[in-house]
Amino acid sequence: MPADLREARQAGVRALLAAEGVESLLVSHLPNIRYLTGFTGSAGLLLLEPDGAVLFTDFRYATQAPAEVGDAAEVEIDSASVWERLKHRCADRPDRTVGFEAHSLTVRDAGRLKKCARRTAPVGELVEGLRAVKAPEEVAAIAAAAELASAALAEVLPTVRPGQSELLVASRLEAALRRRGSEWHPFQTIVASGPRSALPHAHTTERVIGAGEFLLIDFGAQVDGYCADLTRTVVVGGRADARQREVYQAVHAAQWRARREIRAGMTGREADALARDLLVARGFGEAFGHSLGHGLGLEVHEAPRLSATAEAVLPVGAVVTIEPGLYLPGWGGVRLEDDIVLTAAGPQALSDGRTELVELV
Ligand code: ZN
Ligand code: ZN
Repeated sequence: MPADLREARQAGVRALLAAEGVESLLVSHLPNIRYLTGFTGSAGLLLLEPDGAVLFTDFRYATQAPAEVGDAAEVEIDSASVWERLKHRCADRPDRTVGFEAHSLTVRDAGRLKKCARRTAPVGELVEGLRAVKAPEEVAAIAAAAELASAALAEVLPTVRPGQSELLVASRLEAALRRRGSEWHPFQTIVASGPRSALPHAHTTERVIGAGEFLLIDFGAQVDGYCADLTRTVVVGGRADARQREVYQAVHAAQWRARREIRAGMTGREADALARDLLVARGFGEAFGHSLGHGLGLEVHEAPRLSATAEAVLPVGAVVTIEPGLYLPGWGGVRLEDDIVLTAAGPQALSDGRTELVELV
């Protein structure tokens, strides 16, 4: 990661802090620490100060942390307690107010912080707000993740047959994702067949896929820490019947409309309505129970949100998913999800957008 990107990000946070009258910020949310320093470890605290930054972490990262962080922060390793280190640091600068991420710090750790710093102040999701606007390098990483995810699915789908279990399909897909360079699965792969496709957040099970059933596959890939998130729904071992076709075409039309008409400058609610109004008009309003999509980046769910209650304006540079779905309990469901970057010139697809109905016969 280019160091200048991290410097600019840190400068952006400092400007926001200054506006709130807070000198330093204790960053505890790990994706935010990664964003500001490049550190990918599973434990650490970052103290962002007016004139620098220091990362506190433990012995496990004694080699890795300095290598990843470079000039973006000092690194202090403590095998006993990072809080002791923080206490010493703050003792040298007792007049500074140390902000903390109220949405991330546990009550227990907030108590520890109060023993380190005389003045503390909760702050909102400052770093998350900056992360909502992606740099070209970040968009490129998400596009690479989406491309390998699409390729992995294209490899596995032709091998899917009635009689296979959901877990077998998931295992093949996950193997293909890893072989093609996905660092990890950013969330548990969902492979849901038949009536289980009506569960928006289904677990993948031993259930055997029947002929003529829907198979819903929601999965991700990760490149340089950045996530892609795709969903496809196909019919396995037969042609879609009239009801399956009707439900599928409604979701397809809603997804297309949102992908085509979403713009930076809209609110999340207005974007959500692009798909929701169409589904309501077709009589399916009750069956679309979740929001249209979410931001995508170092986390698989981040700002901005596209939902019926999201009044925040979508910025240029946001990367979002567009994923309408219809769920009919006991019968089945359809969800179609693609990843989109909002440019000044309009929406641009990062995933392959191949959402025409596929019948694996
Ligand atoms: Zn998804
Ligand atoms: Zn999603």
